[in-house]
Amino acid sequence: MNKKEVSTGSHERARRLIDVERVEGLTPEERRWLQDHLAGCEACAGWEASAKAALRAFTSVSVVLPPGLAASASLRLREKAAELKQQRARNLALIVGCTLSWVAGVASAPLVWRLCAWFGAALDLPRIVWKLAFVCWWFVPIAAAGLVILWVRSRAELEGSNGSPEGGPRPYTW
Ligand SMILES: [Zn+2]
Repeated sequence: MNKKEVSTGSHERARRLIDVERVEGLTPEERRWLQDHLAGCEACAGWEASAKAALRAFTSVSVVLPPGLAASASLRLREKAAELKQQRARNLALIVGCTLSWVAGVASAPLVWRLCAWFGAALDLPRIVWKLAFVCWWFVPIAAAGLVILWVRSRAELEGSNGSPEGGPRPYTW
């Protein structure tokens, strides 16, 4: 394309297409026309270069972070990951504890039932008394599970309050 052939209207079209290209893209014909125009027009090529530079400056400004920020963010992430790992281990201990106490309760139930019945007969107790004793035995696994939960929570609180000035073991009120 010759410089003399280029009309004022085509410069305007070229600059409009340069702007449109950034936002919504161009059709193949528009892109070909623009490339032809830019090849022959220094003014519009300069316009495009400055538009690109402005866009580059804008995007690079928005992604540049203070150097310490990335480090502290990654440290925070690592801390969070370690915390989650500890939490998972605690939850596993909790599940294992509850399961074991439940299994122990179920496994020992027939034996405990017979023991209660035997004691009831030996001591000549009303049926309701030794049946109540059996029900109480069933609360032992639940109580054990409750103790495990409280122990796990107290450990979590102790670890959570480590390093803070007001930290320290909190006494439990039963
Ligand atoms: Zn031009």
